[in-house]
Amino acid sequence: MKTIRNKTCRMCSSKRFNTVVNLGMHPMVNSLVKKKNLNKKDPTFPLHVKQCKSCKLVQLREVIDADEIYKKIDYLFFSSDMPNLDKYFKPFALDIKKRFLKKNEFVVEIGSNDGVMLQFFKNSNRILGVDPSTNVVIRALKKGINTLPEFFTKKLSDKIKNEFGKAKVIYGANCIAHLNDLRDVMNGVHNLLKDDGVFIIECNYWGEMVKNFNYSLIYHDHFSYFSINVWEKFLKKYNMSAFDAIITPAQGGSLRLFISKSKRKKTKRFKILANKERQTNLNTFKKALEYRSNVKRISNKLSKIVNNIKKKGYTIAGYGAAAKGLTILKCSNLGNKHISYFVDDSPAKQGLYTPLDHIPIINRKEASKKLPDYFIILAPNYSDVIIKKEKKFMIQGGKFIVPKNEIEIH
Ligand SMILES: [Zn+2]
Repeated sequence: MKTIRNKTCRMCSSKRFNTVVNLGMHPMVNSLVKKKNLNKKDPTFPLHVKQCKSCKLVQLREVIDADEIYKKIDYLFFSSDMPNLDKYFKPFALDIKKRFLKKNEFVVEIGSNDGVMLQFFKNSNRILGVDPSTNVVIRALKKGINTLPEFFTKKLSDKIKNEFGKAKVIYGANCIAHLNDLRDVMNGVHNLLKDDGVFIIECNYWGEMVKNFNYSLIYHDHFSYFSINVWEKFLKKYNMSAFDAIITPAQGGSLRLFISKSKRKKTKRFKILANKERQTNLNTFKKALEYRSNVKRISNKLSKIVNNIKKKGYTIAGYGAAAKGLTILKCSNLGNKHISYFVDDSPAKQGLYTPLDHIPIINRKEASKKLPDYFIILAPNYSDVIIKKEKKFMIQGGKFIVPKNEIEIH
């Protein structure tokens, strides 16, 4: 498996970095293992989070070639399989439509997955999705969502422009962190976007990661960890600027940033968030060090709690075999000695095994035959939904371990 080591920062070309946190060697948490491959050794890669000394972007410098993540293996994350994700994207899509779009204007989504958000534009606008994972694109095409199985690049933006014309809205939700060559992406966006168009991104937010001690987002698919101020500096190079921002509850706190070529009035909520970053010194290395000590503290605490439960002879199973959860486990050195199996609602994951530890992933019905004493919820953003759904398990004496910014036992 090929890795790329960036010599320079992906936003500003600086060669000078500080280490934020070194999480050690991790497997690729999104590539689950088929039964026939269990005898093969799964590769591991360093998760060494750095901060650019110049522009302050927090990032992984050594990244896996995106071709390996999205092209050579089946990408198993189908957005439509995620509970309530369509309900999350609907108001986002309606907001975009209401504020920025007229009927039939052209909308492009970068990283459109199986079309879970583009579907809401389908009846009113011309749409095009771009996503490198062929297997999710096939799912989108089946639903009648025009999608190209490609990475979004400047070169591709030329081809799209020639055929469809410029776009009024380009957006990407949960994909910008997955892209190594951000400058090429921005050149492509600038090229394809109308002068009065709007580019909207939703990405992980360093501000919330620091506030909530959230390290579950640090894995090989996520190359960068963003803040508003870092984006503001980067956008200047393209004569673009951000004019609106909100923090959404997705992924434990994501940044939704609205960007334009033409000057637009900055919203009050944008000014408040951008100022808050400055007031709290969010983009300083000192803040990054605070984050590091919190990550170490929480991951040690989880390790202790789980090991104590195991010492008492109780069984533990995982709820949700998400990449985030596998990162949390690995950071606490927890594996197949601690977790008997994973329950996951996504049919694409059932029957597979986690990388490295080879913990089996089964459906909830199968789990009923061998319920554990504890479920550890490794998709903490869904913990409320899961606990509500699992009342019967709790009445029967079952417990939940929920690693949030502190570790909760229910
Ligand atoms: Zn930089």
